[in-house]
Amino acid sequence: MSPDPVRRKVLLLVPPSRIIYQNDNYCSFSSKASYYAPPLDLLVMSGHLHARHDLAVLDARAERMGEGEALAAAVRAAPSHVLFVTGYASWKKDLAFVGRLRETAGCRTLASGGFLLFHGAAVMERYPALDAVSLDFTSPLIENWVSDGEQPVADHLTRAGGAVLAPGRRPAAREFEIPLPRHELFPLRRYSLPYARRFPFSRVMGSMGCPHRCAFCSHASVPFRQRRIGNIMEELRHLVSLGLRQVYFTDPTFVIGRDRTMTLCREVAGAGLDISWSCNTRVDTLDRELLGEMRRAGCHMLQLGVESASLRVLRRAEKRIEPDRIRDAFRMCREAGIQTMAYFILGLPGDTRESVMETIAFSRELDADYASFTIATPDFGTRLREEAIGKGWIGKDLDVFDSTGYPPINLPGLPAEDLWRLRNRANRAFYLRPRYLARAVARARSPRRLLLLARNGVSLLRNMRKRTPD
Ligand code: SF4
Repeated sequence: MSPDPVRRKVLLLVPPSRIIYQNDNYCSFSSKASYYAPPLDLLVMSGHLHARHDLAVLDARAERMGEGEALAAAVRAAPSHVLFVTGYASWKKDLAFVGRLRETAGCRTLASGGFLLFHGAAVMERYPALDAVSLDFTSPLIENWVSDGEQPVADHLTRAGGAVLAPGRRPAAREFEIPLPRHELFPLRRYSLPYARRFPFSRVMGSMGCPHRCAFCSHASVPFRQRRIGNIMEELRHLVSLGLRQVYFTDPTFVIGRDRTMTLCREVAGAGLDISWSCNTRVDTLDRELLGEMRRAGCHMLQLGVESASLRVLRRAEKRIEPDRIRDAFRMCREAGIQTMAYFILGLPGDTRESVMETIAFSRELDADYASFTIATPDFGTRLREEAIGKGWIGKDLDVFDSTGYPPINLPGLPAEDLWRLRNRANRAFYLRPRYLARAVARARSPRRLLLLARNGVSLLRNMRKRTPD
């Protein structure tokens, strides 16, 4: 039998970098502690492509490869097509690397990344080594581009001759399915999550985008869609069959539609899947009954967006939550036996030194198991970016920044240098409490987890050094 004429050698690539960046699901930031998870965009694309093409994965960041080593490994794979993830924290370096790879291997290249949703065509015009951009990494039409890149492909920007083709997006149905992502192709033992109960772990997508409209959040500009529960269950069973027992749901907000979440949790518990999992959600989506179902289904950690202690700042950011509701949510999680991570954003519009100090005090009062203090960043597609450019807090051309690195914004009365000091102070105030440290060590329970705890502590301290993106 003759081989399938359109069977391609596809390399799914995370380019190398000195700093560990998590670039996927339309986000881009450096790892503050030593966390790094499988790239969601590439996982989803692997499901779309594996039946008709030969896939290889090179996550040069997970493998801690230098540029020379990564280039040699990528060339050895002899790809006809390279699909890579990038983001606003590292895109210039990523594109330079992929340009060298294309020149050496003669492959076609496609990028997926949040800022490309807004500036993909301009980036393609500036970087001829980029043949295509994905505007929706869940799109099955990626297969069309790989099989025949000369035709216009919906959900993608492609190149034909000298022109960038932009045929637009498919109408997005509210519910979607994806073929089974091929987790087993990824170096799962190289990924790390500080609060995971079990190793290795992987990521599962339950939805994309968010129906809420927080002014600082790029997920608000991605059309909200939910994945069919049966399709999620199929992937969870597949992970269990691979021996994985830890899942990180990547949804920007896991609980959208309480009944749906109840159904999913009951199905997971009813199927007897022995998994532990974590997810992100809003504090105002939680109640005791729901938390009980989530706990029974294996949820051990909730990552909750708090952002600020200041009602004024929360209102201006259109977060639509209040400090008392936040307190209730953390209390209910503790009662349900679910750990918490509190996300804070310092330097949102309206923030002052005093309000940031209030937020730091609030983080200690909430007493979450973990806290993440990031800096407000002018992500593409957000109202925060428009405001920051309009008011001169950033230059209109600012296109490389990192929410876990040095602040790119100078707010009136809160310059970048002060904000950076406050952010480091927040980390010290939260993590260096004797009571917190004693609890963290007691919770570690095994030498492996103690080692992980120490590594995370060292990474967090290193992250306090002034640092701008590569
Ligand atoms: S911050 Fe959370 S709730 Fe707000 S838009 Fe983003 S994902 Fe949605």
